[in-house]
Amino acid sequence: MEFIPVNEPLLNGNEKKYLCECIDTGWISSEGPFVKEFEQKMSESVGRKYGIAVSNGTAALEVAVQALEIGAGDEVIMPAFTIISCAMAVTKRGGIPVLVDSDPVTWNMDVKEIEGKITDKTKAIMVVHIYGLPVDMDPVVALARKYNLKIIEDAAEMHGQTYKGKPCGNFGDVSTFSFYPNKHVTTGEGGMVVTNDEDLAERCRMIRNLCFQRDVRYVHEEISDNYRFTNLQAAVGLAQLERLDEFVERKREMGRFYTEQLQEVKGIRLPLSSTEYANNIYWVYGIVLEDAIRVDNRMCQKMFTEEGIGTRTFFWCIHEQPVYQKVGLFEEECHPKAEYLARRGFYIPSGLALTKKQMVTVVEKVRKVIKQIAN
Ligand SMILES: *Cc1c(COP(=O)(O)O)cnc(C)c1O
Repeated sequence: MEFIPVNEPLLNGNEKKYLCECIDTGWISSEGPFVKEFEQKMSESVGRKYGIAVSNGTAALEVAVQALEIGAGDEVIMPAFTIISCAMAVTKRGGIPVLVDSDPVTWNMDVKEIEGKITDKTKAIMVVHIYGLPVDMDPVVALARKYNLKIIEDAAEMHGQTYKGKPCGNFGDVSTFSFYPNKHVTTGEGGMVVTNDEDLAERCRMIRNLCFQRDVRYVHEEISDNYRFTNLQAAVGLAQLERLDEFVERKREMGRFYTEQLQEVKGIRLPLSSTEYANNIYWVYGIVLEDAIRVDNRMCQKMFTEEGIGTRTFFWCIHEQPVYQKVGLFEEECHPKAEYLARRGFYIPSGLALTKKQMVTVVEKVRKVIKQIAN
């Protein structure tokens, strides 16, 4: 039986050609012409002035938090339902993530909850666009203005997506991307910070590189890490970026096909195809098990594995992470809608290399497995 992986990237454009150029010219470290070109093209594609490429999407968040000088005791409002990277970037610097529950329909943070969480310690709102639909940004931007807060926008899953016609990655004081192989643009590992603020961009460049200073090298006023991004990664990224429109179209087609084929299946909730401000880009195609189904997403995932279908469960909530509970963070906190998604949601194969034939098989297996557990 052929196993259909949950994600397989598509690398059949100019990736090999540009990589060979790196090898032939000897530019393989973080020095090299492709890095600058990739930073420029990527930031331009989301309408930002500066792009600072870093080693991965988690690093991009860490650099963003440090660049904004978020530190001990500072509060950052973010969704409870997101990847650990978001919280980690804040807690690593002694800051405190303040969590907001999810909107059960879009799976994004419920922006109506944000204002009630703002205190005099709040420094920033970290918005994370989840799985395919952007966060409703207008109210977030209004709150940030009203209370003088920074916005960190995690757009890791949103390459090519827009909010009311404006590119995701355009909304943060600092916005971040990941180029992990399951993202729409991959460089193997990689990430980027984008901004319009020249001083912030300069700070990000310094933080990326051990906080070396411009003028007096080897003398440090601050410490960070080595978050550098290589010319080899940039070579792959440039080739990927050339095909972004095609990739986005492919993702949307996948989403349309799955929805069309699965909408009659009882007991599951499918992703919303659009809101008033965006059409779903289906970074992943998520499915949420309704109450009528008695097994949880982990059990469900096992059944799919036995059927030869790769799936992933949804994120586990930040407030339920054992590592934070052990140190007494988020005690007694409850975000029921996020917890529901974490226990009931999973996503099915939707990588760019997925074929129509494989999708037909996935649909067949989803129908079969859900039928088995629906009664
Ligand atoms: C993938 C992802 C990240 C982390 O990116 P890495 O490159 O894996 O470190 C951060 N935030 C979101 C929302 C992501 O989807």
